[in-house]
Amino acid sequence: MTLSSKLSDPRLFRQYAYVDGKWTHGEGGREEAVFDPATGEALGHIPWLEAHQITAAVDAAETAFVHWRALRADERCERLLAWYDLLQAHREDLATLMTLEQGKPLPDARGEVEYGASFVRWFAEEGKRTFGETIPSHIPNAALGTIKEPVGIAALITPWNFPLAMITRKAAAAMAAGCTVIVKPAGETPFSALALAELAERAGIPAGVFNVVLGEPAEVSKILCAEDRVKALSFTGSTRVGRLLLEQCANTVKRVSLELGGNAPFIVGPDMDPREAAFAAVAAKFQTAGQDCLAADRILVHESIHDEFVEHFAERMAALTVGNGLESEIDLGPLIHRQAVEKAAAIVDDAISKGATLVAGDQSQAPGENFFMPVLLTDVTHDMKIWHEESFAPVAGITAYADDDQVIEMANDTEYGLAAYIYTHDIRRIWKIMRALEFGMVSVNSVKMTGPPVPFGGVKHSGLGREGGVTGIDEYLETKYYCLGALGSVSGS
Ligand code: NAD
Repeated sequence: MTLSSKLSDPRLFRQYAYVDGKWTHGEGGREEAVFDPATGEALGHIPWLEAHQITAAVDAAETAFVHWRALRADERCERLLAWYDLLQAHREDLATLMTLEQGKPLPDARGEVEYGASFVRWFAEEGKRTFGETIPSHIPNAALGTIKEPVGIAALITPWNFPLAMITRKAAAAMAAGCTVIVKPAGETPFSALALAELAERAGIPAGVFNVVLGEPAEVSKILCAEDRVKALSFTGSTRVGRLLLEQCANTVKRVSLELGGNAPFIVGPDMDPREAAFAAVAAKFQTAGQDCLAADRILVHESIHDEFVEHFAERMAALTVGNGLESEIDLGPLIHRQAVEKAAAIVDDAISKGATLVAGDQSQAPGENFFMPVLLTDVTHDMKIWHEESFAPVAGITAYADDDQVIEMANDTEYGLAAYIYTHDIRRIWKIMRALEFGMVSVNSVKMTGPPVPFGGVKHSGLGREGGVTGIDEYLETKYYCLGALGSVSGS
C-alpha cells in the first residue's frame, strides 16, 4: 500500500522541494529515500537540490519579501489564520504522515499537529502587536522613537523528532513579522514539511514566502549561512551542528537563534509521594520514545524515598507498550534509525560497565530492528556517558542524593541548560532549587511545560534566543530607532 493511499487527501504527500510556489525536481538527479522507521519500508523519495537551486530559493524569498513585508500586519494575520484552519482540517492526514516518517504513536502525532498549529495562530495574532516605542527626547525640538521591521529572509533548519512543530514555531513567527522563509527539514522527515507547504499554498500564502529546500545537509546549510541576503538563521537540532552553523554564520553576521540539545534533570524532593513522582518521571522520560530535548535524562531522587520510587518507576515502565505507532494502544514507537538503537545500547553498556544496576530492559522483546525496549538503570554516576550525553533513547537513569545543595550541584553538572523538572511541595525548597538551576526552563510539579505563550529556550550549550511567547517574534525583527529633529518647539521635549 502506498503512502498516499493512506491519506484522505493524497496531495498532501509530495516528493518534491517547494521553491517559489513551484514543486521542484533536483536538477542533478540526486535523491534520497525516506523510510518508515517502524517497518524499514521506503515511503518515498526526495530530490536533493543543486547549489544553484538553493540560490534560486533565496532569489524567490528576496522577491517575495518586497510584497510580503508591505502587507499590513492584519493582512498577514488573515493568511496565517487560513493556514492554521487548514492544518486543523487536515489534522488526521498530517498525523498519519508524521507517524509514518517519524514513528511516534498516532495520538502523539495528532498532539504535535495541534501543538504545531497553535504556534501559527499565536504568531498570526502577535504580528499585530509588534509595537515600537516613543522615547522622551533629550535632544531639543526632536521626537524620538523606535519602529519594528522584519529582518528579511530567514533560513530555518529543523530536526526529525518534531517534524511539524519545530517548523511552525519558527516559520509562523518569521512570517508574521513580515519575513520570508527557507525551510531545510531533516532528511528523515521531509514529508511533514512538504505537506505544510501544500497547505500554505492553499491558504493563499504567496509564492516565495514559504519555501522548502531539500539536499545534502552540510551543503545546503553552507550555502544558506554564506548567503548575505539571508539575514537570520534559526536552527533546532544537536549542539554539535548548532556550533558548526554559528561559525558558518560569522562572516555574514547573521541573526542566529539556536535551540539545541538538552539533558534535563528531574529532581524529586524527600516530601514527595514516591508513586506520584515516579509516574510523572516515566511520563517525562519516555515521550517520543525518549527522543525529546525535554526528556528527563537524569532522575535525581532523595535517598529517603529512592527505593520506593524505583519500585514504582519500574512498575509503571513495565506497563508501557512498544510497537508500530499506527497500531492502537502504543506508548513508544521505534527510534528514528538503527544508529539510534546502537547508540542507546552503547550508553547502557557503558553505564553497566561502570557500576550501574540494570533493573529492567530486555532488548530481546523489541518488536523490530529499530525498536529499543525501555531501560531502567540505577546507581548512575557522573563518570557514565548517560550522565553527560543526551541519550535520545528510552533509557532512564536514577541517582540518589542526600540534600538540596548536592542535588543542585548534580543537576548543573552538564554542558546543557535547556529544561529541568522539580517535584516537591516544599515552597522554600522549590524557590531555592529553581533559582539555582542553570536551565532556561524549570517545571515544578508538572510534566507539561511548553506551548505558544511561553518563552522556550536554553542557556549554556543548549542554545541562543527564545521561541514562542511574546518575545519569540523578536528573533525576526529589527529595532529601527528614529530621531525626528528640527521640529520647532515640541511640547514636553
Ligand atoms: P541534527 O543536529 O543532527 O540535525 C538537525 C538538522 O540539521 C537537520 O535538518 C539535519 O539535516 C541538519 N544537519 C545535520 N548535519 C548537518 C551539518 N553537518 N551541517 C548542517 N546541517 C546539518 O539533530 P537531529 O538528530 O535531527 O535532532 C535531534 C537534536 O535536536 C537533539 O540534540 C535535540 O535535543 C535537539 N532538539 C532541540 C530542541 C529544542 O527546542 N531545543 C527541540 C527538538 C530537538
